[in-house]
Amino acid sequence: MILIVAEHAIGKVSKSTWEMVTAARELAQGMGREVPITALVLGSNIAPIAAEIARAVDQVLVADLPALAQYDAELWSAAVAQVATEGEASVILIGGSRSGREYSPRVAVKLEAPLLEDVISLKTSGETLTAQHYIHLARVTETIETASPVTVVTIKPGVFNPATPRVEAAEQFDVDLKLPTPRLKVTGKTVERSSRVGLAEADIVVSGGRGVGSAEGFTQYVEALADQLGAAVGATRAIVDAGWRPYSEQVGQTGKTIQPKLYIAIGISGAVQHLSGMNKSKTIVAINRDAEAPIFKIADYGIVGDVPQLLPAILAELKK
Ligand SMILES: Cc1cc2nc3c(=O)[nH]c(=O)nc-3n(C[C@H](O)[C@H](O)[C@H](O)COP(=O)(O)OP(=O)(O)OC[C@H]3O[C@@H](n4cnc5c(N)ncnc54)[C@H](O)[C@@H]3O)c2cc1C
Repeated sequence: MILIVAEHAIGKVSKSTWEMVTAARELAQGMGREVPITALVLGSNIAPIAAEIARAVDQVLVADLPALAQYDAELWSAAVAQVATEGEASVILIGGSRSGREYSPRVAVKLEAPLLEDVISLKTSGETLTAQHYIHLARVTETIETASPVTVVTIKPGVFNPATPRVEAAEQFDVDLKLPTPRLKVTGKTVERSSRVGLAEADIVVSGGRGVGSAEGFTQYVEALADQLGAAVGATRAIVDAGWRPYSEQVGQTGKTIQPKLYIAIGISGAVQHLSGMNKSKTIVAINRDAEAPIFKIADYGIVGDVPQLLPAILAELKK
């Protein structure tokens, strides 16, 4: 079986889980035989999550325990390794989130399995699993092969198209886990208060580059437009390096890979490293004063003009 460890947050299945379903479906198809796709849901009070994910896979294994209310690398890796062993999983897909990147090596060690990290493409031919990922600060795309009976894979978020749920739901089973006693205790949690949606989950992203002029310009134009549209904000590496924006907002090869329905690029030249993080967006709108800027080659709509002139006019029009 192909085992997906479902990622979820605040009572909702994360987009990364739907992306892993697509990766699993492509993999199962390539295997040329009936390979069931199983989702493992870990957490506490997760019945709605399990029900949601049941509409995308062949079976769902649920471990709904108070002990799993908080993510813990030791518990997660023990649970995944146990389920993978008992279910004789051949491939284990884990989200390339911060936590996924933390516990996946532990799973690989427990299973004595190879670990393919931050994978952007995954194929199988016979017994061989072939994956691609970026290395050397994303300057190089590396292709790797493994022919192990079990392989652990982390999937780079935002690369695979999110799967669409079906109408019918797969069967759910409770799993009986033998968990170690937790050695870490979460004693507090501060949730960042932001009215904006997260970059990875957003349908609309408004991004800014050096062409917005300054950190103040970013707030004045990019954040203002994002707030009007209920969008997330993104940034180029140039302005993250300049300290105008946090790294968490960087879009591109060394930042986040996203595919929103609408991507608005303001004052962004369109360097390949930026494009690789957003070129799968459904509709791309670019605003740049240079008609020759590479971003216009992939944009569906382009406005050639000066940001300080155009943006106030666009914002005023939207306010109406
Ligand atoms: C290994 C490596 C990894 C990288 N990873 C990333 C990454 O993940 N993400 C990323 O974004 N970059 C990445 N880069 C950097 C990338 O190569 C570019 O340098 C960067 O994307 C450029 O950012 P920019 O478009 O903001 O700036 P610029 O390239 O300087 O473009 C600014 C644009 O704004 C326009 N402009 C200027 N003033 C105005 C105005 N008043 N009105 C309208 N338009 C205006 C200009 O015409 C220009 O097109 C990486 C580079 C390397 C080598």
